[in-house]
Amino acid sequence: MIRAATVERARGGEAGGRAVVLVVEDEAALATMLRYNLEKQGYVVEEAADGQEALTRIAEAPPDLVLLDWMLPTVSGLEVCRQIRRRPQTRDLPVIMVTARAEDQDAVRGLNTGADDYIAKPFSIEALLARVRALLRRASAVPGKGKLSFHDITMDLAAHRVYRNDRPVHLGPTEFRLLEFLMQHPRRVFTREELLDAVWGKDIHVEPRTVDVHIRRLRKSINGEGELDVVRTVRAAGYALDTDAI
Ligand code: CA
Repeated sequence: MIRAATVERARGGEAGGRAVVLVVEDEAALATMLRYNLEKQGYVVEEAADGQEALTRIAEAPPDLVLLDWMLPTVSGLEVCRQIRRRPQTRDLPVIMVTARAEDQDAVRGLNTGADDYIAKPFSIEALLARVRALLRRASAVPGKGKLSFHDITMDLAAHRVYRNDRPVHLGPTEFRLLEFLMQHPRRVFTREELLDAVWGKDIHVEPRTVDVHIRRLRKSINGEGELDVVRTVRAAGYALDTDAI
């Protein structure tokens, strides 16, 4: 299965244009249900039943998106996510964490580990598919043309690279889109809802607090030691890209 996908992808990108989703889930019935629905949407589905197998598969042939269960045998979903983010080859791989509990704290922990999105069990398959679609769209957003710059930050949109003071900055797909949007409108204050619409898309329901988590991640990546915080938090309003951040 994974071999076939590798060959196809080497030949023409994502398995002949179809995105490959790796489902990491130890509950066989749930994995089967996910496979059925994802395949119906045209995705190529690969499966791993535990964390170790997931890491092996990802190292062999990174998929386009990972649907990652939190509670897994051998290596936990959180640890899998951490390792995905640690490896340069998979640092930008889109990950949706599937949590067993709807508790916000878990979700925030998952996002802090590097997941791009999360969904709590039990979820509706429509909600899950909407998130998969939205994240793949974000990750493969047709790169804009040319460059954006603000203060000492440069975004090379075609090459999908970010530099601060000529130092390369690595951002996940969501942080990249967020920064791109803010750099297109420097100094303008956006509410969390406006940022959700612009970056996540209007058709998807995401908690406004999710924006805070990604802003935090963006800040952590973009602000190096001793560098000015260019993201301004406007109390009760939202966020802006601004050198006058206080
Ligand atoms: Ca599980």
